[in-house]
Amino acid sequence: MMAKKQFKSESKRLLDLMINSIYTHKEIFLRELISNASDAIDKLCFISLTDDKVGLSREDFKINLTIDKDNRVITIEDNGIGMDKDDLDKNLGTIASSGSYRFKQEMEKTDDVDIIGQFGVGFYSAFMVADKVEVYTKKHGAESGYLWTSSGADGYTIKEADKDSVGSVVTLHIKDDTENENYSEFLEQYRISELVKKYSDYIRYPIVMDMTRSKVKEGTEGSDKPEYETVTEAETLNSMVPIWQRPKKDVSDEEYEKFYHDKFMAFDKPAKIITTSVEGVVTYKALLYVPSKAPFDYYTKDYKKGLQLYSSGVLIMENCEELLPDHFRFVKGVVDSQDFSLNISREVLQHDHQLKTVAQTLEKKIKNELSSLLKKDRETYENFFGEFGRQLKYGIVSNYGMHKDSLKDLLMFNSSNSDKLTTLGEYVDRMSEEQKYIYFATGESVDGISKLPQAELVLSKGYEILYCTQDIDEFTIQTLRDYNDKQFKSVDDDDLGIEGENNENEVENSDDVLKFVKESLGDKVSEVVASKKLVSHPVCMTAKGGISFEMEKYFAAMQPEAGMKAQRCLELNMNHDAVKAMCELIGKDDEKAKKYAQIFYNQALLIAGLPIENPSEYADLVCSIM
Ligand code: ADP
Repeated sequence: MMAKKQFKSESKRLLDLMINSIYTHKEIFLRELISNASDAIDKLCFISLTDDKVGLSREDFKINLTIDKDNRVITIEDNGIGMDKDDLDKNLGTIASSGSYRFKQEMEKTDDVDIIGQFGVGFYSAFMVADKVEVYTKKHGAESGYLWTSSGADGYTIKEADKDSVGSVVTLHIKDDTENENYSEFLEQYRISELVKKYSDYIRYPIVMDMTRSKVKEGTEGSDKPEYETVTEAETLNSMVPIWQRPKKDVSDEEYEKFYHDKFMAFDKPAKIITTSVEGVVTYKALLYVPSKAPFDYYTKDYKKGLQLYSSGVLIMENCEELLPDHFRFVKGVVDSQDFSLNISREVLQHDHQLKTVAQTLEKKIKNELSSLLKKDRETYENFFGEFGRQLKYGIVSNYGMHKDSLKDLLMFNSSNSDKLTTLGEYVDRMSEEQKYIYFATGESVDGISKLPQAELVLSKGYEILYCTQDIDEFTIQTLRDYNDKQFKSVDDDDLGIEGENNENEVENSDDVLKFVKESLGDKVSEVVASKKLVSHPVCMTAKGGISFEMEKYFAAMQPEAGMKAQRCLELNMNHDAVKAMCELIGKDDEKAKKYAQIFYNQALLIAGLPIENPSEYADLVCSIM
């Protein structure tokens, strides 16, 4: 009987953790062991370039998986570099010394070899699903092979063992099922092949396993009664070259789209496909998609933003939120960087400096790609904006406007210029020299806003008005404050900065008239003024005190209990015949004049899209003077 060796103390601790499983996803053991096999092949493959004694060429390298259900055993076999006695002691007896890491250092001069995983917790994850693990291995150039065996925390043994070929076979004796844990699933072909697809699809070497399938018997295809037989054949489970690693010119649009549909369960044609390859502080490749349609749950809290994070073709995080800013949360895609460790935890990642660097460069890239889409393919951009414009506006408003400068050129608005959307830049380009402000008006629909009486003067000057129909629009404009040194100005504003505002006032003692109207209406309005902006309409209602009517409606829907109200200011066109008629009545028939005041008030509410308090009373009022 051979003496058992103890694991180094820190390894023992790790092993304990593994046996009692720190990972909630036990399934990752397969990813770890396959990555080790792939690393080992990388090493031998590298040596084979200069050493004929290896006797293998690139196509010969592969990883074999077998399942023996009856004996509850799975094996992972590679024809990589293998280990000798010393390696087994050092590599599998200790975690702190990582073989991959040292190999990488040695090969520094030819920095072409990238090797996954620089921290050695990987191998021990086998103990999450196995109660006994054997590594049967022979190192390249060594005389004999070895068998390393361990049943966990009590240590391991190493003995010499005959082995013909160079490489390693890792054998896992799968644990029995318990009340809470099902280990038998890992003895199912479909489950193992599914895990390979999920985590190891882009391992560069074929991962081969016997698959048993039912097939139509030869010669009976197409006949009325096709016969079936069960066939077992070796199949390569992984697709090997990740699409994002292939040169862009070799990948068709259809392939990129298919990947998008398969991977992200999307159905739309992406508005933009972004590929990027960065070498620098952090080296990475990314393949990103800007959808053309918002997923049905996009504007709910069920939607999760994030990109998939790979380390040299191995999936390390399904949804890495930190890679995307909120305003680009619609973007889907993958990032692959050899600079991230396979075993990095979510907690560590959140503070990871490299990750932040990647996120920053990606944000810039996405922004630039959207700008270029806007310039080059207006129709697609407008369609995209229809789906995600609200998100960009949220991006401007949130975080105290931190991102407004980078996002403002991506915005689009309806305007009085045409029935097409306009950018702020285009609006400013169209401004005449004497126009001081960027005018905007808010309302529920483009049609409604275009007919607002208070828009009349601005429009009559030939100035353009941005039509804000979404509740977020006004907040966006308030956050922006100006665009290219031009300030925004609501058409409700007292001072529109327009020369020759409608200042003529044909009514004498108009102050008394305004006072009369205010008294008739009481607290319903905060102010009654002689309008400078009305041209052909008799009245309008404008909002004072920083809260507009659209905001009032928004707040009423969001926080009804807060009772946020815009201050109502009734503006009268003192040159309008109907207003003059009321002036005539004051002092002669005050009762009737008061009715006029009530009617003007209700009309102004209606035009502003605000509910009138008592529709039937209003109807009676109108009838009473007809
Ligand atoms: P890591 O792979 O992160 O270094 P592991 O605990 O998974 O950590 O493995 C420890 C070391 O054991 C590896 O660095 C490698 O040197 C060695 N090793 C593991 N599996 C194999 C294998 N299949 N073939 C050769 N060496 C291996």
